[in-house]
Formats: sequence, structure tokens, C-alpha cells
Amino acid sequence: MRSTLPKESLSHAQNRAVILVLAILAAVLAPAFSARPAHAGSYYQYVRSLVTYYGCSSTPVAITSAYGHQGTFDFARNRIYIAPGLSSYRLRYVTAHECAHAKQLRAYGGVAGYWTMQRRMNQIYGGTGTTGLERNADCVTRVLGLTGQRYTTYCPSSRRTAAVNTMYVRRS
Ligand SMILES: [Zn+2]
Repeated sequence: MRSTLPKESLSHAQNRAVILVLAILAAVLAPAFSARPAHAGSYYQYVRSLVTYYGCSSTPVAITSAYGHQGTFDFARNRIYIAPGLSSYRLRYVTAHECAHAKQLRAYGGVAGYWTMQRRMNQIYGGTGTTGLERNADCVTRVLGLTGQRYTTYCPSSRRTAAVNTMYVRRS
């Protein structure tokens, strides 16, 4: 659509004034935009900022699609892996979920407490193997108000309490 104000109607002085105003606006707005992690820095830096935001700043993070999931947590090595190319919206859920696994591990004293933790989570959430751990991690993301859960959205009563415990790095 054509502008209702033709370029020719601006004098040179007006042009300079417009350019000056735009330059000032850019200078004022640039720091505001750079403070928003979704629009600044690398993908890795954004993931790192989310990991820190969700309380897992001490957990190493790598960007890789090697594990075939959007996110993976390595309980043996205490590492978060995030796939490349996820939207900033999706990254919030995926990162919060993997961070919840890191907190589970911390709450139960590391690898030595893994089997106790897995058993306990299956008691609370039902299922076998890693099901309880996955449901607990998803309930943490529900408590955080995130959407797009992969394992469960059913997080009432004891499930919610156990999720809050994990959020605060407490055992259930
Ligand atoms: Zn998981």
C-alpha cells in the first residue's frame, strides 16, 4: 500500500529530523530488545538462560539431535541435551522438563539414589521403568504453567505435591 505522505513532501531538513528521530529510537530500543533472550544471542545462549531460569544453572547443557528427542537428560552424567531448531515457546517446556530431571537427581543424592527415586516416582505416578520420573517432570512443567506436555497433564493432589518437591529439589 502507498504511503499517504509522499517522500517528496519532506524537505531536506525534515528528512534529517526524521532520520535523527529514528536513530534515537533505535538507540533507545536496542537495549530493550537485546534484554529479551528469545531475540538475542545464539540458540545455545537462549537455552542456557532458560536452564538458569528454571533453577539448573549448574547442569551442563549441549545442543544435539543425537538422541532423537527434543530433550534428553543423562542421569548417569548429569547432562541436559536439547535438540536444535525448536521454537522459543517449545524450548520453555522442553528445558523445564529436562531441568526437572536434573533436580530429581539432585534431590536423591545423585546416581547412587537413582533406583530409590525411580521406585518412589512409580509409586506416586504409576507405571514402570522411567514412567514415574517422566510424569513427575511433566507435572513440574504443569506447576510452572507451561503447556505441551508429552507424558502427562494429570497432576492433582499427591502428583502435584511430588512435583512441587522436585521443583524445590526435595525428595517425595
Ligand atoms: Zn523426561
